[in-house]
Amino acid sequence: MNDRFDRQIRFFGKEGQERLAAARVAVVGVGGLGSHVVQQLAFLGVRAIAPIDAKELGPTSRNRLVGMSEGDPIPGTRKVDIAERTVKAIDGSIAVDKVFDSFVSKLGFDALMGADYVFGCLDSEGARLVLTELSAAYAKPYVDVSSDVLPGNPVDYGGQVCIAWNGNGCLSCMNILDRTRAAVELAGPEERRRQAEIYGIRGDLLNDVGPSVVSINGVLASLAVTEFMLKVTGIREPRRLLTYHGRTGKVTASADTPLPDCYYCMGLWGKGDPGDVQRYVRQGVGTFLR
Ligand SMILES: [Zn+2]
Repeated sequence: MNDRFDRQIRFFGKEGQERLAAARVAVVGVGGLGSHVVQQLAFLGVRAIAPIDAKELGPTSRNRLVGMSEGDPIPGTRKVDIAERTVKAIDGSIAVDKVFDSFVSKLGFDALMGADYVFGCLDSEGARLVLTELSAAYAKPYVDVSSDVLPGNPVDYGGQVCIAWNGNGCLSCMNILDRTRAAVELAGPEERRRQAEIYGIRGDLLNDVGPSVVSINGVLASLAVTEFMLKVTGIREPRRLLTYHGRTGKVTASADTPLPDCYYCMGLWGKGDPGDVQRYVRQGVGTFLR
């Protein structure tokens, strides 16, 4: 182990460092949140990182995408390439298995199967549902990170980190998954338009985008990576659900216990291929779930 990790080995020990070095981590979504996560994993000494994202850098991402450079052309810069560049600049020997596609694809699922841990940094409830299902079926710890800035008077902001680990709580049984919205998103763009017509135009259903700010994303990403680091190095169990309340500056850990008989934590957990999460790929969900 080289000197680079001396200051953190003082915190969690050589064995902890070795556990981090052995961890293979997939990061789904390497935009405003995921780019922080990727950078921190590389600094921590994770040796295998799989960034998965089908999107390119857009002009409105320039305010927050860690690793973005002024000279990166738009169009023409893939977010996964920025993630790879960030990781390689920190340590060129880290293995980067990048996927420029929806995670709901053959390549995306392969990368997820090859990972021991999954971070989800997504702004889609449908995507969260699929990742919850996949992680449960293949018994992979899943760290879901989300940030929110809600315009209004007064403006509200913050976010959540939800950690599904060992079938002991997940987004579903911690009750933070918007199932209605997930179902509409998974049904495809046609259904999304139809619902918008029936119920009036709702920006969230039409893929409208909200505010997004680098420092708030950084808080949430840091909370998520810290929980991951504490668990992997053996310091303590992760919190199931952390909420950052921006207006009061507080972070609270949910004391709620998961709802009993959760399908994902109980029924599907560790089932593997018979859980048939692959059906999302066959149905072509990845073409619009990006
Ligand atoms: Zn659950």
